[in-house]
Amino acid sequence: MEITLVLGDITEERVDAVVNAANSSLLGGGGVDGAIHRRGGPEILDECRKLRASHYGGGLPTGQAVATTAGALPARWVIHTVGPVYSATEDRGDRLASCYRESLRVADELGAASIAFPAVSAGVYGWPMDDAARIAVGTVRRAPTQVTDVRFVLFNRDAYAAFARALDAP
Ligand code: ADP
Repeated sequence: MEITLVLGDITEERVDAVVNAANSSLLGGGGVDGAIHRRGGPEILDECRKLRASHYGGGLPTGQAVATTAGALPARWVIHTVGPVYSATEDRGDRLASCYRESLRVADELGAASIAFPAVSAGVYGWPMDDAARIAVGTVRRAPTQVTDVRFVLFNRDAYAAFARALDAP
């Protein structure tokens, strides 16, 4: 597996699967979720609504992942995962790690060879970037997966620098 860092907008990545930091409603939100639905078009929301009706009436649980079409994005699928809201008093790192593991498991089911991840939970959900990066890189490195091309797409220089530090760590 090759892991690369990209500074930019994840909606522009040409990959098999783009991961969305969704919220449990699957009905869209701000941040990367809003960008994916805006650029991907209404097909993605249509499939999300169907998934809600068939499987996730109570919402997609934190740490799980589910795939839809990528609509108009230059990708084949969007894998929606729900990160945990950061807590300073409770360690929710396992759930954040689960987002990466489960996204890769879904990618394997789809037969995806390439995947692009945002920094899940490190925006509105408040996760400190260095810790989010450490969990992301550490989990992906250890994951049993067939995916050969993993990209972390970081929206600003601070996020990029945090992921670069995590990648340099042994
Ligand atoms: P969460 O609610 O899981 O924290 P956010 O979407 O608020 O999700 O933020 C997750 C990360 O995604 C943040 O670091 C944010 O800066 C980044 N981000 C926002 N828009 C994009 C985009 N278009 N491409 C890549 N990353 C993005």
